[in-house]
Amino acid sequence: MIANQKEVQVYRSFAQHNFRQIPQIIHLTDEEIMDIDVVSHVLPFKTNNYVVDELINWDNVPDDPIFTLTFPRKEMLIPEHYNKMRSAMERGATKNEIKILANEIRHQLNPHPAGQLEHNVPMIEGQRLSGMQHKYRQTVLFFPSQGQTCHAYCSFCFRWPQFVGMDEWKFAMRESELMVKYLKAHTEVTDLLFTGGDPMIMKNKIFSGYINALLDADIPNLQTIRIGTKALGYWPYKFLTDDDAEDTLRTFEKIVKSGKNLAIMAHFNHPVELSTPAVQEAIKKVIATGAQIRTQSPIMRNINADPKIWAEMWRKQVNLNCIPYYMFLARDTGAQHYFAIPLVEAWEIFRDAYQQVSGVCRTVRGPSMSATPGKIQILGVSEVAGKKVITMRMLQGRNPDWIAKPFFAEYDKDAIWLDDLKPAFGEKKFFFEDELAQMFHEELGFESRIHNLE
Ligand SMILES: *Cc1c(COP(=O)(O)O)cnc(C)c1O
Ligand code: SF4
Repeated sequence: MIANQKEVQVYRSFAQHNFRQIPQIIHLTDEEIMDIDVVSHVLPFKTNNYVVDELINWDNVPDDPIFTLTFPRKEMLIPEHYNKMRSAMERGATKNEIKILANEIRHQLNPHPAGQLEHNVPMIEGQRLSGMQHKYRQTVLFFPSQGQTCHAYCSFCFRWPQFVGMDEWKFAMRESELMVKYLKAHTEVTDLLFTGGDPMIMKNKIFSGYINALLDADIPNLQTIRIGTKALGYWPYKFLTDDDAEDTLRTFEKIVKSGKNLAIMAHFNHPVELSTPAVQEAIKKVIATGAQIRTQSPIMRNINADPKIWAEMWRKQVNLNCIPYYMFLARDTGAQHYFAIPLVEAWEIFRDAYQQVSGVCRTVRGPSMSATPGKIQILGVSEVAGKKVITMRMLQGRNPDWIAKPFFAEYDKDAIWLDDLKPAFGEKKFFFEDELAQMFHEELGFESRIHNLE
């Protein structure tokens, strides 16, 4: 179904309570429908009319990659969790019992990977800025409280605790005032990255409030404003026919006119998301404001674990004037058992795809895992002194001195995360481990000192 972009597209979302109203659901078996119901009590589930009508090929369901991307299925929970939830539902457990069980299961799914909650929270004037994260020297993340949702949810999302109402895990802040103060005090910061959820879920009224506060504050060290978003993939009408589409584009223009670089960090998982007239038109409009679009995606089994898909995706992105940026590895959270692929296999796919495209697509870096010490890129498998090893380097590090320094792990074809790897050549620890432990120690010491002063 091709939508006419001139026609206003009214956003309609589907979730656990109303997905049975999706007309195309007749393509699913009763069992598959039941599975969506069971799993969506634990993992977040939301899709919308654009995803359902223009992206999913219903003749190819349940294998369709975009179906897998937004619809839960049985295998996304381990059998023990699935069976527990299913039998609770079948015996007619109360809403509250289901909720308690769901939270119990969620707590076992490592909801905050890589020390996200306890570390990296910046402080100013003795206050924790809980809506911000400052892990890497030049870049601060900002989670505007109105951007803590998305136009649809990815079934592999690691931000899921923010979406399922586990309030104690929500990090968000209300005012931009403290953010401006922090950026002024930290002249090493050049980049501010709006993230979420999806900050492009915000109406321009709210979004431009944050932007105006930043631009009016005149912070010379702030040079790039980045917006991490999946709106181009899940709801391109945000930039075409939504009632604030034009105003949002004008806000983008204003950022560029102020002399700052505006980078839209667009999340695309599959070439299908680049194929509709709506997304192509939306990309044109965004680029016409002077913004750059950089693209990123995790590599996921059952969605895009194939070099042909990546080569096609990067080439299509460049043809649409987007800049390929990161290939990520599946984080150690949520349905990782269903989506994760071993590090070595991910590197093989990356390498194969990278060989198929020209240099203009090779701005992409990866595969990279966002682990506690930093963003770690798998450079590949090599043989050193007759021993097979995995070579890595950090693209970002908690300590900038760690960046771009190759290091080695014992070859392990099954390893899917840093924790699974052992340092090569009989070393007991990776080169950064002692310093990392020291940093955490100091961070805690710092906080308690602040506390004592108050
Ligand atoms: C990836 C990331 C950034 C941005 O890193 P770049 O390499 O500059 O894109 C910033 N903060 C955190 C916590 C990140 O994971
Ligand atoms: S778009 Fe990003 S934040 Fe939103 S559900 Fe997908 S991965 Fe999560």
